[in-house]
Amino acid sequence: MQDCKVNILGTEWSIKFGGEEEYPASNGIDGYADSSTKEIVVDNMEKSKGQADAKGNLERYQKEVLRHELVHAFMTESGLEHNFEHKPIGIEETMVDWIAIQSPKMFKVFQELDIL
Ligand SMILES: [Zn+2]
Repeated sequence: MQDCKVNILGTEWSIKFGGEEEYPASNGIDGYADSSTKEIVVDNMEKSKGQADAKGNLERYQKEVLRHELVHAFMTESGLEHNFEHKPIGIEETMVDWIAIQSPKMFKVFQELDIL
């Protein structure tokens, strides 16, 4: 995937792909959404390729990570960024990951039913 820009609820966000060298804040994580710069960074997975403990389908996983970070961006732009903090468990991360994983399946069904 290549760097690009998307419109999230009226605000332009940049999507960038790279490693820790280019984006030091990505150290140890696969992606992040920075609400202060309106920037999403997703690991290019170069270091994972060929590693024994790497995911089997890195391209598919990279898309999942991007969907996850885009959900954060949508939450940020809709005013929900901090509304789930200070809970005893990771409620926001649980919900974000659920949407990132399930939304393609939901959209497929919605398209089949022509309810989008
Ligand atoms: Zn997250």
